[in-house]
Amino acid sequence: MTRRYSILREMGLGPIWRLRDAADAADSAVAGSAEHVAAASAEPTPPAAPDIPSPVTAEPPVDRRDKIPASPAPEAEPETPAVRVADAADLDWDTLTRKILACRECALCEQRTQAVPGVGDREADWLFVGEGPGAEEDARGEPFVGKAGKLLDAMLAAIDLARGDNVYIANAVKCRPPMNRTPEPAELAACFPYLARQIALIRPRLIVALGRPAAQALLNTDIRIASARGRCFDYQGIPVIVTYHPAYLLRNPLDKAKAWEDLCFARRQMRERLDKDNA
Ligand code: URA
Repeated sequence: MTRRYSILREMGLGPIWRLRDAADAADSAVAGSAEHVAAASAEPTPPAAPDIPSPVTAEPPVDRRDKIPASPAPEAEPETPAVRVADAADLDWDTLTRKILACRECALCEQRTQAVPGVGDREADWLFVGEGPGAEEDARGEPFVGKAGKLLDAMLAAIDLARGDNVYIANAVKCRPPMNRTPEPAELAACFPYLARQIALIRPRLIVALGRPAAQALLNTDIRIASARGRCFDYQGIPVIVTYHPAYLLRNPLDKAKAWEDLCFARRQMRERLDKDNA
C-alpha cells in the first residue's frame, strides 16, 4: 500500500477514491472540472490578478464592521453594542502576538483560557484559515490540535504538505466561541484585523478558507461553500480557495471526496503561480 493511499484512507477517501498511479491524473481531472465551474460562474468575483501582487504590508486593515452581513436581529433584542476593532496595522510578529493574547475587543475573551494566534511557517506559501479554536485549541494555545486538526493534518499530507513546513494555520477568530458555536459576524469583524495583519506579514501565495465563517471573514461576503468551491476568489491580490471545514467533514464523511477535489484544485493553482513566478 502506497503512502498516498494510506493518507487518503486516513482521510476516509480510500473506498471512494482510488488513485491509479500519478496523483496528477486525479489532479488534472479535478482541476478541469473546477475550471469549468470558475468559467461558468455568474457570481461577481474580482478578476484574478495575473500574477501574485506585491506585498500588502503597507495596506491598513479594512474596517469591516459594517460590511460583514449581520444576522437579522430578533425584534425585541436591544441593539448590538458597537464592536471595537483592534488596530493591528504595522505591528511586527511579536507585538501582534502579544496584542492577540491580551485582546479584549469582543466578548469571546471572557470565556477563553487563552487566545490562539496561529502556528507555522511565517514565510509560508500556504495559509489555511479555520473558524475559531475549539476546546483543545483553547487549552493548548495552538490551532487545529483536536480531532478536526488530525483530519486537517491528513488533508495537508494528501497534497504533500505538513503543518509548519511552508504552511501557516490561523483562525478567523482567535478565541474559542463558547460551546463551539459559530462566531458572530461582529466577532469575526472585531478579530479580522489580526488575520489581516498575519496575512500581510506572511504574504502567502494562496489562502485556503476552511468553512463558511473563514470564507466570510476573508471575502467579506456571505457565501455558501457548496457554490463557492472550485473558484478562485481574491483577498488583496492573493487567491483564496474555499473548502469544507474538517469538523464538518468529520460529520459528513461523504463530502471528503469534494474536499479532496478542492485541495487538488488548490495545489494546481499554486503550481501555476509558482511556474509563472519562475518563468
Ligand atoms: N476548528 C477551527 O476552525 N479551528 C481550530 O483551531 C480548531 C477547530
